[in-house]
Amino acid sequence: MATLRARLTVAYGFALVGNVILFAGALYFAHNARGTQLRQLGRVAVDQGERTLFLIRAAAREGRTLTERRPCGEPRDQLCVFATTDLVELLDRVPGYYVVYDRDDRQIYSSVGIRMLSDEDRLAIDRAAVHLAPDGEAAEVPVTEKNFGGGLLLAARPDSALRFITRVVAGVPTTVLELTPSVLVGTMVVIFPFLILASIGVSYAIAGQALEPIEQIINEVEAITDGRSLHRRLPSDLGSDELSRLGTTLNAMVGRLETSFGALRRFTADASHELKTPLTVMRADVERAMHPNAAGSEAMQALEEALQETARMSDLVDGLLTLARADEGRFDLHREPVALGPLVRDVYETAVILGEHAGQRVSLTVLEEAMVGGDAHRLRQLFLNLITNAIKYTARGGSVELSLSRLLGAEIAFTVRDTGIGISASDLPYVFDRFWRADRARSRGSERSGFGLGLAISQWIAQAHGGRVTAQSRLGRGSIFTVVLPMLAPDGEAGRDVLANAREAGG
Ligand code: ADP
Repeated sequence: MATLRARLTVAYGFALVGNVILFAGALYFAHNARGTQLRQLGRVAVDQGERTLFLIRAAAREGRTLTERRPCGEPRDQLCVFATTDLVELLDRVPGYYVVYDRDDRQIYSSVGIRMLSDEDRLAIDRAAVHLAPDGEAAEVPVTEKNFGGGLLLAARPDSALRFITRVVAGVPTTVLELTPSVLVGTMVVIFPFLILASIGVSYAIAGQALEPIEQIINEVEAITDGRSLHRRLPSDLGSDELSRLGTTLNAMVGRLETSFGALRRFTADASHELKTPLTVMRADVERAMHPNAAGSEAMQALEEALQETARMSDLVDGLLTLARADEGRFDLHREPVALGPLVRDVYETAVILGEHAGQRVSLTVLEEAMVGGDAHRLRQLFLNLITNAIKYTARGGSVELSLSRLLGAEIAFTVRDTGIGISASDLPYVFDRFWRADRARSRGSERSGFGLGLAISQWIAQAHGGRVTAQSRLGRGSIFTVVLPMLAPDGEAGRDVLANAREAGG
């Protein structure tokens, strides 16, 4: 699995290489085609030479004087072959490019076309013509003449019948083979739209294929976010690294949404459920009290029960309100430096009274002084929650032990240790969850009845003070609940930080 970027780059790279190969193939084809055309042109040149020789031979047979020997150059007695006016007149009527040579390889006639060319071109043609093998390969000679627009392909045609004339070299313009700018532009105009259309098509296909997984992600996310399918997840392999990362991130987000939705649903269901029971009991009590046959004492008892249920409901609504405000982050903590020593001594006294009622021994083993930044009222609520739980879940004759001791790293720990019923290892991770109770059915209506909100509120209070609550327990052996809070530094500096942190956490 590679990145989308790498895959697109490779795909476009291949497309480019494909284009270049096509282009190179076209050039190779054009080159080969030119070779074939050159060979054909060579044959045309040979035919032209042959036609010229045929004319000359016919004139010779008629007995016309075509050449004459006249002295030329040094030494004075040297004779050269020249064309007669008769031959010149005869050949001037034959159009084309050709030159007639004598046995000494001297030009005795050059056609009107050749005579029109510049001296330079004629010299180049002569030089090439002299080296041409009779009936051999044709040779291409460039012509610099401006309007000519190409070169001449020369071929030699020998003759053995004539006396002085040995061969004719004829040339055919290669202009037809040249790729002139106009031809090039014309070709491009014709070919370009096809090339562009093909490129657009290929790009569209490549991009479409690369982006296909995104389409898939959109459909999947749409299906997931309809609200009922939050359990579904995107596939882990979405074709490329970037998209797979996107998938993983979206999956994590959907996971968090699922957890939040689940918690919200559970919370609403639990809250309604918890409110339903006291309401039902209250209704029954009030109906009992209002019954015409109810005796005065019976009515009074029913109303007392209804009052108890009202108190319970009020506790529950208080708890819910506390957590709802905490969730919203708009709970006001009255922050100030709090001396924990006196606070723990105070809750210890309350614990002793509660313990006496429950037939338990409550002790305070360690008490170290420490200052924390926070809300004394909330801290007291936190400590009492743990103490009442310890007493509530410990049998008569058991003991509850409190301690306040400093830890390393400027932290202070308040510990509540009991010898009560304990919590099983499988239940322990859930004790701080809202509405969680080890044994719902039994706890409701019994003397231990609670709503399972106490520890959730305690954890929130500790966290709002920059601390935490932890629980250790063994079923049947007792539990240890520990609150760890950051201490205020003696100079108050760190204390201000802790207060600021607590303010952020508490809203
Ligand atoms: P509750 O109002 O039910 O006590 P809490 O949130 O305070 O709600 O406690 C949640 C559950 O954790 C309790 O129902 C109980 O099962 C368990 N629990 C809490 N404290 C103790 C303890 N000290 N010993 C044994 N079980 C405990």
